[in-house]
Amino acid sequence: MISKLPPFTLVYITNPDTLGGGGETPTQATEPAGDPEPPGNTITTGDPEPPGDSESAVMTLPGQPTTPPPDEGTLRGITDSGGPGVPESVSSGSDTAQHHIEAVSRAAPELAESFKSLNLNPNLQQTLLSTSFAQTAIGVDDEQAVATLKPVVADLKRDSEVVTVALWDLNSRSGQLPEVINLINSAQPLFTFFELQGAPLPTGLIGPPQRVEDWVRARLHKRGKRLTKKMRETLGAPGDNFIANEFYKYARVVHKRIGVDYTVGITQSMIAGDDQGEIFWNYFTASRDHLLVTSTYDLRGYARKAGRSFEVALMMLVVAQLLVEMNSRLTFHQDTGCIFDFNSDRASVIESIRALKIDDDCLSKISDKYRQAALAMLDALRSYKGEGEEAPAPEEEEVDYKHWLEQLDKLGEE
Ligand SMILES: [Zn+2]
Repeated sequence: MISKLPPFTLVYITNPDTLGGGGETPTQATEPAGDPEPPGNTITTGDPEPPGDSESAVMTLPGQPTTPPPDEGTLRGITDSGGPGVPESVSSGSDTAQHHIEAVSRAAPELAESFKSLNLNPNLQQTLLSTSFAQTAIGVDDEQAVATLKPVVADLKRDSEVVTVALWDLNSRSGQLPEVINLINSAQPLFTFFELQGAPLPTGLIGPPQRVEDWVRARLHKRGKRLTKKMRETLGAPGDNFIANEFYKYARVVHKRIGVDYTVGITQSMIAGDDQGEIFWNYFTASRDHLLVTSTYDLRGYARKAGRSFEVALMMLVVAQLLVEMNSRLTFHQDTGCIFDFNSDRASVIESIRALKIDDDCLSKISDKYRQAALAMLDALRSYKGEGEEAPAPEEEEVDYKHWLEQLDKLGEE
């Protein structure tokens, strides 16, 4: 790494270390199948730490199920179970993590203690540690690593069950995320957002435009339905839609590796998918089992019309889908200007972005614990000023004649 990373960055560990091996490629969650987890396997160089505190102790949680969750989106009910997920492939990289935590202990003992007491998912521990040490270039500068880790630990320490969320920009070039992440994190104590960097992008997701039309046709066919001409027209051009189900498949490995509670992919396309037999496309967001996907398609233009920054619009989509994913009773509904509007007329999202509100009815479906935090995040977004007007949106859906006439005038003047 070259320069200083913004706070709340997570750097993906591509290859944790040479000892662990396995499972880098985001194809399938390669479980260390028959491997009886040997607690004594890690080279602990006789460190004096009591077993209860050491990295290797956190690694093995024998009671945890290691089978992947069912394919269809069951999940929900974060209230009590939203904590650490299945610790997977934690054995790789634990050595490095051990060295890192020792370094932190030397440089800032109290920070190391706080960090350990957070009881984080072991994979998230590793990711945070390696991120903190990643930016120290060649010579490992413990002080700098400590400085990076400190605000994150402080943020995670504010509640015993902080929900961790990684934003993963697949191809949307949403540049101003660190600023809005800072804002939203400091606005409430229950959610900590990160920006994920360096995770491998499967070419199937960001390569040549996906053949969404074929995919939709095949899915419909399976259910005895046809893709009508009218439906086909709404699918747009190749690349306009992105298949959420493909994302879930690839992102699962990345999600587990980084160890956060929720991972949000951000794509420049609209979202198509198959949600338990319901085939959809042109969506802004979708989610399944702790994986979310959010679209920035047309969003710059919509945000501008709503008088808000693009990042605010994006975060509104993220927060809304996250809350729906977390609260089983909460669903998207007919448009009322609420952040949970269904927005079947896509432009109606402008009203949601402008209002940044949650209906009373929707609010009552958010679990008590997160209600205040949800409102606080929207308040923070409402107050966000951002960078002012950005470059013209690449995907204006309407021709702005006034603008073009002005441009022509300008040309005439030159
Ligand atoms: Zn609502």
